Formats: sequence, structure tokens, C-alpha cells
Amino acid sequence: MVDFGFQINQGRTLSLDFEQVHLKQLEDVVGSFRRCIRCGSCTATCSAAQFTDFNIRKIHTAFRAGIYNNIEELLKSCMLCGKCTLVCPRGVNLRALIINLRKIIKENDL
Ligand code: SF4
Ligand code: SF4
Repeated sequence: MVDFGFQINQGRTLSLDFEQVHLKQLEDVVGSFRRCIRCGSCTATCSAAQFTDFNIRKIHTAFRAGIYNNIEELLKSCMLCGKCTLVCPRGVNLRALIINLRKIIKENDL
């Protein structure tokens, strides 16, 4: 194999090799989340993101990958205004997603 001189930065890798029980739990209640294409429209129009570092796409992408660090705290910036739900091109019910994300994080002590 040709060595192009690139390396994998271990600190920035995501492990997808785990049982995504919590993701399945979320998708069971908010089925529309399966349609997310990670386009970022939700973050681009988010009311909270205009004033803080809050990034809803980053949060739900991390959750998908099994990274739960600090999600509960980060979600406190969301005002549940629903703009993200209105603009999502895939019809993801983000308000329901955020509410259930909070529940799952709390219930499972993640
Ligand atoms: S706007 Fe919808 S499809 Fe795009 S990243 Fe957000 S949830 Fe996913
Ligand atoms: S509901 Fe939350 S995540 Fe969605 S646009 Fe409003 S503040 Fe942002």
C-alpha cells in the first residue's frame, strides 16, 4: 500500500463499534431522527446558537457516536423555541428530540 504520510489522530477518532442502545432508545420515540443527514440547518438557525456556543447538530452527532460528555449541561441553553424543527429539511422533530435526549441522559445517568 502506498504511504501518503497521513496519520489518524487518535484523539479525534470516534468509535462506532459499540452497541447503540441509547441511540435506539431515542429513535424509538423520535423516529424522524433516523432521517437526519447532518446538514446543520438546525444549528444555523438556532436562537441559542446566536448568543452562545450551543450547537445542536454537534450534540446529536456526538450522541449518535456514543459520546455523552456534558450533553445534559449543554442542552440547558436550548429554549425549545422550535425554529430548528421548522427548518429541518428532513422533517426531524428536534424539539421532541431534545426533550427525549434530556430524559434519556438523566434516566441512564450518562
Ligand atoms: S436540520 Fe435536520 S437533517 Fe439537518 S442536521 Fe439538523 S436534524 Fe439533521
Ligand atoms: S428549540 Fe433549541 S435547538 Fe432548536 S432552535 Fe430553539 S433554541 Fe435552538
